[in-house]
Amino acid sequence: MNWLTDFVKPKLSSLVNRKDPPSDLWTKCGCGERMLYVSDLKENLHVCSYCDQHMYINFDNRFKQLFDDQVYELIDIPFDNNDPLQFKDLKKYTDRLKAAQQKTNQKDAAIVATGNIGGQKVCIFLLDFSFMGGSMGQYVGEAFKIACQKSVELQCPFISIASSGGARMQEGIVSLMQLPKTVAAVNLLDQKKIPFISVLTHPTTGGVSASFAMLGDIIIAEKGSMIGFAGKRVIEKTINEQLPEDFQTAEYLLEHGMIDMVVHRKELRESLSRVLSFLKK
Ligand SMILES: [Zn+2]
Repeated sequence: MNWLTDFVKPKLSSLVNRKDPPSDLWTKCGCGERMLYVSDLKENLHVCSYCDQHMYINFDNRFKQLFDDQVYELIDIPFDNNDPLQFKDLKKYTDRLKAAQQKTNQKDAAIVATGNIGGQKVCIFLLDFSFMGGSMGQYVGEAFKIACQKSVELQCPFISIASSGGARMQEGIVSLMQLPKTVAAVNLLDQKKIPFISVLTHPTTGGVSASFAMLGDIIIAEKGSMIGFAGKRVIEKTINEQLPEDFQTAEYLLEHGMIDMVVHRKELRESLSRVLSFLKK
């Protein structure tokens, strides 16, 4: 037996030719240093096990966490975005929409579903950040209205879970018109005495924080979320003052009476369930 050719050479070539594992097995958190195994991260509800940062979670995983027995029914939104301004920047808006639809397999940024939480029927409206930054255009406004109407029809509490960069710039004034539209839908809930729980997740900004998201009867924010209207640097430049380090965090807003609770994602289902049972009484 030749030790060099029979043992060392195969060992070396197996080391050299070792294939990298598929890149979707691992991911990184903003805290940087260590890689996170995707299946562990999913198990941990997409919360970084090193720094506890609440990372992006898609609507299916979110709904499976919240709804009893992971069962929910999606509500169809019979509306197609027709690009009201025929907008074009570097790309056509319709092309951007198509690309986002292909990437996410969703029609737009809003998803509406019904199901039970802690045995109580609820309707949930969710904004998914992976679809054009969860921005609000006419589809999202319509979905919000339909979700509120569904709650009225079922006589069940309404929950919105926001994650959004704000208004959809490509729809200009039409996207701004969604602010009063969603506020009118919240008014409908109020008139019909339907409770509205607003859950703010990272990040909730711009036209979404300036409309329905801050109008909940109860406002809950996920731990560490960034919540605000304009960006911190923009405000600092406008007022020419330095803002506190934790400005626009969920914890800062709680301290200043803007929201009611800050909740860790692992406790969100339990907290919602408790709030719903209080409201029922
Ligand atoms: Zn981390």
